[in-house]
Amino acid sequence: MKKRVVLILASAALGGVLVLLQTISAEPSVPQEDEEGFQKLGPPKPGEWRDHFKEPAQSYEKYVAGPVNRKSERRTTFYLQPLGNAGTTYQEMLERMRLYAEAFFGVPSKVLEPIPLFEAAYVAKRSQYNASRIIEKLADQIPKDALVYIGITDKDLFSEGLNFVFGEASLSWRCGVYSLVRYQAKDETLFTRRSLNLLAHESGHILSIEHCVTYACVMQGANNLREDDGHPMHLCPIDLRKVLWNTGMDRDDRYRKLQALYKKWDLKTEAEWVSKRLTR
Ligand SMILES: [Zn+2]
Ligand SMILES: [Zn+2]
Repeated sequence: MKKRVVLILASAALGGVLVLLQTISAEPSVPQEDEEGFQKLGPPKPGEWRDHFKEPAQSYEKYVAGPVNRKSERRTTFYLQPLGNAGTTYQEMLERMRLYAEAFFGVPSKVLEPIPLFEAAYVAKRSQYNASRIIEKLADQIPKDALVYIGITDKDLFSEGLNFVFGEASLSWRCGVYSLVRYQAKDETLFTRRSLNLLAHESGHILSIEHCVTYACVMQGANNLREDDGHPMHLCPIDLRKVLWNTGMDRDDRYRKLQALYKKWDLKTEAEWVSKRLTR
């Protein structure tokens, strides 16, 4: 099986690089739903993220004790920054990501005018861009009121020591860069689901949330696209509580907004899951 590498989080604020790489395909776990609709994870299967990386659980109490990148009077807005051709290649998806960021994180979101991709980050011998170098450049121009500032590219990214990454995020700089190029699929709904999950997961990291090791959750780490696709779009109760605390959102108001978007984009499983949470 072809080697694959997923999701890196560079976290100076939490003391170094937290997560990275690796290999092999794995069947996603299929845990049982509890009465609240959340699924506790069983032991990891061989090849899964948790099988490779023994990360501790980040409790709600540990999270609020900080340090946390938190919404405040000065940090109010979620910015999407198209890089190079991504502004036209992904025009429709960028608008979906903007709407999703507003519903998911409860802060105003804006798509900025495209800027050229930083050619200094290109590594010709790999035909890829160095994600860490793009983030350094983005950090120089982060809007003052940004809670989250993310670059979106249609070029392939890598980080040192890794074959490729879908995204990389820096907590200390409140910014990240995501590539959608490996998510593209003929199935528009699948492409949407992947792009929105990447947005939620990596931006969750920018809001200081670590990988989830307790529940089936969008904040679970993934070793490859197949494992990634097996994760739900929702936050588990622990990570939901963190987001509600961070941004001051109302739970049901948030679910109603998400439900409307899931229905609009034909994301049936998620729409149904959220409906059940609203009728409990
Ligand atoms: Zn991650
Ligand atoms: Zn979780």
